[in-house]
Amino acid sequence: MGSVVISLDAELGWGFHDLESLPGRRVEAGRRGWSTMLELLETYEIPATWAVVGHLMLESCDGRHADHPAPDEWFERERTTWRDREDLRFCPDLVTDLLESDVDHEFASHSFSHVLFDRPETDAEIAAAELERSVEIAADWGLSIDSFVYPRNGVGHRDVLAEYGVRAYRGRSPTGDGVWGLLDSTIRDRSMLVEPTIDEYGLVDVPASLFLFGFEGPARTVAESIWRDPMVVQVRRGIDEAVRRDGVFHMWLHPNNLVGKQDDRRMRAILEYLDRRRSETDLRVETMNRIAQRTVDGNVTTASDADGGVISVSRPAPASRSND
Ligand SMILES: [Zn+2]
Ligand SMILES: [Zn+2]
Repeated sequence: MGSVVISLDAELGWGFHDLESLPGRRVEAGRRGWSTMLELLETYEIPATWAVVGHLMLESCDGRHADHPAPDEWFERERTTWRDREDLRFCPDLVTDLLESDVDHEFASHSFSHVLFDRPETDAEIAAAELERSVEIAADWGLSIDSFVYPRNGVGHRDVLAEYGVRAYRGRSPTGDGVWGLLDSTIRDRSMLVEPTIDEYGLVDVPASLFLFGFEGPARTVAESIWRDPMVVQVRRGIDEAVRRDGVFHMWLHPNNLVGKQDDRRMRAILEYLDRRRSETDLRVETMNRIAQRTVDGNVTTASDADGGVISVSRPAPASRSND
């Protein structure tokens, strides 16, 4: 049976607060994109994994976070240019909308303050603080964290994730993002399906297949003016491949990628097609957590020794990875 996963990096201002120059339209699109995605997913009854930045779930803060081991400057924007921009720093309202949706979305984590886990300056203490706060805030809301999406996909400190009870994370796409990914999967005919695996910490890596807004700017404008949205074409191929080969196709985006009407149209076309293929075939739409559960279950073997009934999880040998 084929499966499609959609994950969203829900971050409002936190996805940009460390950048010198801000992509203004993206920054301002966070709230509209969030609400639009909730509406569209509800229209087509499609569940997604929403990885939320923990800080957004606070009502207020002092802008200092003195007990957080990150350097002082990390929260500087909260005290300066975004001092009066609570709408970029907090959104308990939008998180409530997400939790109250008629669709059974997965609530997941995108860290507490969008710390980049693959940077050398992010030590284990900072990583642990990000997880600890996220887990605490989630608990205050009566939630737990099963899945994690790394800020800017920078995989690192996987042991810390495991320590805090995370079960799954989104790994990097085997094909590139943007135009290179497009070339990989169209011209070189690379598969867009991904294979979830269990790492040496017992975490399930659910790699991304495709970033839905990696093909932007002038190239997109030209393509769309003479042809239909190339990203929709790509996604259709991915969904069809999942159906045909019983694999997992995992697409992702930020709500703030929905900057305007043409982005809304793209998402509507994608979800409409997914809904149609789901009704025509045995294709499923699943959350990252569900995929993780299935992956672990598939790896569970009953020991055949005399004790019987002993369950063991088979894990691959530790792999050396360059980015953690
Ligand atoms: Zn704060
Ligand atoms: Zn992010």
